[in-house]
Amino acid sequence: MRILYGDTMEEKVLTAEHIFYKFDPEIKPALFVDEGEEIIIETHDCFSEQITDENQLVTQVDFSRVNPATGPIYVKNAEPGDTLVVKIKKIDLNKQGVVVTVPKEGFLSNLVKNAKTRICNVSNDYLELFGLKLPLRKMIGVIGVASKDKESTGTPGRHGGNMDTRYITEGSILYLPVNFPGGLFGLGDLHALMGDGELCVSGCEISGKVTLEFGLIKTKKVPWPIVEYGDKIYVVVSNENIDNALKEAAEIAVEALSKSLDLEWHDAYMLSSLTVDMEISQLVDPKKTVRAGIPKSLVNIEKFLNV
Ligand code: CA
Ligand code: ZN
Repeated sequence: MRILYGDTMEEKVLTAEHIFYKFDPEIKPALFVDEGEEIIIETHDCFSEQITDENQLVTQVDFSRVNPATGPIYVKNAEPGDTLVVKIKKIDLNKQGVVVTVPKEGFLSNLVKNAKTRICNVSNDYLELFGLKLPLRKMIGVIGVASKDKESTGTPGRHGGNMDTRYITEGSILYLPVNFPGGLFGLGDLHALMGDGELCVSGCEISGKVTLEFGLIKTKKVPWPIVEYGDKIYVVVSNENIDNALKEAAEIAVEALSKSLDLEWHDAYMLSSLTVDMEISQLVDPKKTVRAGIPKSLVNIEKFLNV
């Protein structure tokens, strides 16, 4: 951690040497922060920068160093049963990203014969790959709090983790259920660009830094991570079975509509059919991640607490 003092402002930065690989409550906090305090978190890419040119293959990397999250961060006054509010203000990416294929991995795993690496040059608005200029969609792949199951940073769940949800980005607000005092928050695995599904098992993997601040909703807990992005509120559910994930997200969406508008369940179910978008976040992690998007004009975050 370093604190830089300018003329009128101070900047609290958690550097990327503070990493962990499990959302484990026993790992000592690297930083203590207050509600409303702005901090900057520096991150490695998901390979801990082990791949820097196209001759380096994923088969050569040390897998014990894959998917590092920077942290843990102790948010003062966060207690089990609260909701941690993460306001993502800014994502700054470094200049070079990497995309890989991994034998027998990804959504089309049976067709993958070779490990292959492609480097992307990343500028402010776009990245270059195969001679194409592709507009950036910056996002945070791994983001979460300590869990009872001490989940690996490679796995998504109720605590957040490797959700690979592209709406977790600049300007969005993420709500996470707090399981342990301080929350013990961490993030990493930034992507310059990733399509829904993350078909080949990698996005444009890149290091960088994230500016954010925390808030708290006391004594009320979200059932799963919730993201406010644009004009929608998304419930983000992960499960080994994608059908089960979709059903659970849909159930929560219908409940929230019912509560919000005081509608009988069948009416809320009809309204969900007209207004809720069921979407895929990722298809390639140990659990699949989906989201149900509900218009903000119909619900607010309050309706998801203790549902
Ligand atoms: Ca990921
Ligand atoms: Zn990634």
